[in-house]
Amino acid sequence: MSNIGKFQDDCIFCKIIKGEIPSTKVYEDETVYAFRDINPQMPVHILVVPKFHIRSLAEVTEDNAGDVGKVLFAIKKIAEQEKLDKGFRVITNAGKEAGQTVDHLHFHILAGRQMGEGLV
Ligand code: AMP
Ligand code: ZN
Repeated sequence: MSNIGKFQDDCIFCKIIKGEIPSTKVYEDETVYAFRDINPQMPVHILVVPKFHIRSLAEVTEDNAGDVGKVLFAIKKIAEQEKLDKGFRVITNAGKEAGQTVDHLHFHILAGRQMGEGLV
């Protein structure tokens, strides 16, 4: 059974997907929604989310792994669409110690200037 459209009422990213909170859309398909980060930390800062509520990669299951994989495929398509041919970095935070502030799985696409080789 599909998870698409299984939202959580108090989740800000679920509300964005449903159009209840405005966002600047970058890409959308059946499974995935992508929008500009409201507080960009790079010249290009896009958030890519599945269209169902899952807290983080810590909650991936056999049941939803296929749809989470589609988010990764969407990232590749967004990189092409946005012409990020010089390179891009993808980050996802899982849990408080990792700095996660919104509990709906999201991948940050960062691009637009030279980044260092260190990750943190
Ligand atoms: P994280 O710290 O990995 O949980 O990332 C959450 C991200 O969501 C941050 O980069 C925020 O700037 C971003 N964010 C929070 N609210 C919104 C919103 N309404 N529209 C776009 N981005 C948002
Ligand atoms: Zn959600």
